[in-house]
Amino acid sequence: MPFSELKCLRCGRVHHPAKNLYVCTSCGGKLDVIYDYQAISDVINRGELAKRKNGVWKYYELLPLMSRKNIVSLGEGGTPLIPARNLAKELRMRHLLLKDETRNPSASFKDRPMSVGVSKAVEFGARAVVCASSGNAAIALSAYAAKAGIKCHVFVPLGAPKSKVAQLLMHGAQVVQPKESGVGDPTYKLMQESWKKFGWHPIPSAGAFNPYQPEGSKTISYEVCEQMGWQTPDWVIIPTGAGTLLSGNAKGYFEFEQMGLINEVPRLVAIQAEGCAPIVRAFKEGTSPYEIPPWPSPRTVAGGLVDPYPWDADTAIPAIKRSNGTAEAVSDAEILAAVKLLARREGIFAEPSGAAGLAGLMRLLDEGVVSRSDVVVIEITGGGLKDVATAMKMVEKPVTIEPRLEQLKKLFVADLKQH
Ligand SMILES: *Cc1c(COP(=O)(O)O)cnc(C)c1O
Repeated sequence: MPFSELKCLRCGRVHHPAKNLYVCTSCGGKLDVIYDYQAISDVINRGELAKRKNGVWKYYELLPLMSRKNIVSLGEGGTPLIPARNLAKELRMRHLLLKDETRNPSASFKDRPMSVGVSKAVEFGARAVVCASSGNAAIALSAYAAKAGIKCHVFVPLGAPKSKVAQLLMHGAQVVQPKESGVGDPTYKLMQESWKKFGWHPIPSAGAFNPYQPEGSKTISYEVCEQMGWQTPDWVIIPTGAGTLLSGNAKGYFEFEQMGLINEVPRLVAIQAEGCAPIVRAFKEGTSPYEIPPWPSPRTVAGGLVDPYPWDADTAIPAIKRSNGTAEAVSDAEILAAVKLLARREGIFAEPSGAAGLAGLMRLLDEGVVSRSDVVVIEITGGGLKDVATAMKMVEKPVTIEPRLEQLKKLFVADLKQH
């Protein structure tokens, strides 16, 4: 019952799901999971959902698995939607909510898609999985592969933060950091060239290489609808790299609209870093998603948003347009200021990529695109301990003193004078 087929988003060909069928065999296009919403509506309704335990697998019928026994779970999803009263006051807004995805098992939203991706690979009998990632997708994949007892190979960029590499190695992934070759993304290049040769299942975050795992990100939207009592926000602001998260979020809202569970889809906003913003540029210039050139030499502190080639722009850009949303790029300085503000006003420690949505909101408020009376949800996508080095550069150093009250007093006097 859950789902029946895969449809190519480029040529329209319909495929039956099968092992090693991850892209359209006719044109190489991206596959979309097709569900029978009529049948699902007989089972899933507001009352039924209210009875179920929170988490990604609460929405089993809307996820592409054939049997519950293949679920690989670490307790992902079911994250809080937190009213950001202090920030709202500071920004003179009425309703600001934070979807805190840092609470996921490996501290980023990527646990949602990877729980689905690894479960599906297990259903296909996979012994090894592979991914190309700036860090978080690889980390989530390595944790779920560990739980499933299968091998995990990851290609991550040389510049990945140490704390992310530590997480990967601790889960036992085989970590390969390819050197820059000058064109394209060397991590994706290696993944594309290696997976078939070695019999690995490709599970990067991008839907362009595997249609299953992006479905996991729909559950963020389902949760927001439920947590808001089925009143959708005016805006949902989403830190964006390849556009996979935004595409998944959009599918979730459009599905709930189609099933009659919500009346309106929120306006979706893609926030990218100025140092790598191919989706924002294509959105503003009206470039066809299939003709976006790779971003030359990306540079930003938001490593999780570095996708020089936006693999899922073909679903993300139409979703932004269909939802009447927008796209904006923010500077590293704005992102770092948002990291600090989030930590100091709301008690949430995010990595730079994870806080980019807040930086985006502040820009859109200034530009008058978002009104201060609008209801806004920002997705905080990744936790701050993933990039300790960047955090340490932004804070004052701790003070060392002799363990004597006199010295402490002196410190306070200096401190009092300062404030
Ligand atoms: C992966 C990631 C995103 C979004 O990336 P997409 O490639 O657009 O799906 C946002 N924030 C963090 C922290 C991430 O790891």
